[in-house]
Amino acid sequence: MRVVPLFSAVLTVAALASPAVAAPTRTVVKEVFSPDGTITRARVRLPVEVAARGAVTAAVVPIQQTGPSGSRFDLVFVGDGYTASQLATYHQHVLNRWAELTQVEPFKSMKQSFNVWQVDVVSAESGVDNDPTQGVRRDTALDSYFWCDGLERLLCVNETKALRYAALAPAADQVLVVANSTKYGGAGGTVATSSGGNAQSGQIVAHELGHSIGGLADEYDVPNDLYTGTEPVEANVSTYTSATMRQRRVKWYSYLGKPSPDGGVIGTFEGAYYYKRGVYRPTDNSLMRSLGRPYNLIGLDIMRAAIARKAPGARKPGYTEPGLRRNR
Ligand SMILES: [Zn+2]
Repeated sequence: MRVVPLFSAVLTVAALASPAVAAPTRTVVKEVFSPDGTITRARVRLPVEVAARGAVTAAVVPIQQTGPSGSRFDLVFVGDGYTASQLATYHQHVLNRWAELTQVEPFKSMKQSFNVWQVDVVSAESGVDNDPTQGVRRDTALDSYFWCDGLERLLCVNETKALRYAALAPAADQVLVVANSTKYGGAGGTVATSSGGNAQSGQIVAHELGHSIGGLADEYDVPNDLYTGTEPVEANVSTYTSATMRQRRVKWYSYLGKPSPDGGVIGTFEGAYYYKRGVYRPTDNSLMRSLGRPYNLIGLDIMRAAIARKAPGARKPGYTEPGLRRNR
């Protein structure tokens, strides 16, 4: 009677195998943003495309091109939920986002260090899934959806598809999805998303560039209590108090006591790096802790240096930009 358990084992495997017919997923950590500026993180499941990679085509519009991609920071916008007749709206959303970003230092004074590209991704239907309410479905090119991982304002996207379109631009140092929605929302990560029609969502982009350009750590302190790990490699968080920094001449010791653009003076404020205790941030409340804030002086100097390294010889503000060239 050994055959029976064997047979039943085969059935079990078949039963286990059947869910694999559904799209496989991978989990990634995404930053979740609130209109009040607070930031948290969530581990979400994103689909992985297994279908054959068809070539995608789309026009690429330079929003600004200040130099060769090899010596510029290239921002690439891809849009989702814009139909062929809504490309003008998409273009306006991209311009608005870039204008919002360049209100924030150091982007304001280093605007000419960036190339900005708009990939005209065309969707069959207008809008995004679960907008304005759960259950609403739209057939869009990048499969954007609110209520990602059960969080209303977390706007996820099929990253494989987004990256494939972004690759049409000459280079992509950061990919930014703008989705055709006015609902507040977005997500941080390699591919950052934001609602194109919501001005407040633009702050998400400024925070994300702190990571992708400056390699800055998050300065918010949720959800953990006591940090017991090693000294973080990032320049804007530390396990050292100001006294230890001064004594050992490490981390931001040379900045201690200096005024910072986000208010107050540089010190060591407990709570950062997802922990409430045992790790410090340089100021009370910078952009790496809450949206709608400036970078602190540490972050700002690091960002300036990183952008200058990436874009040597970029022109200073006041330089007249070449007119927009539409290459289609
Ligand atoms: Zn962050």
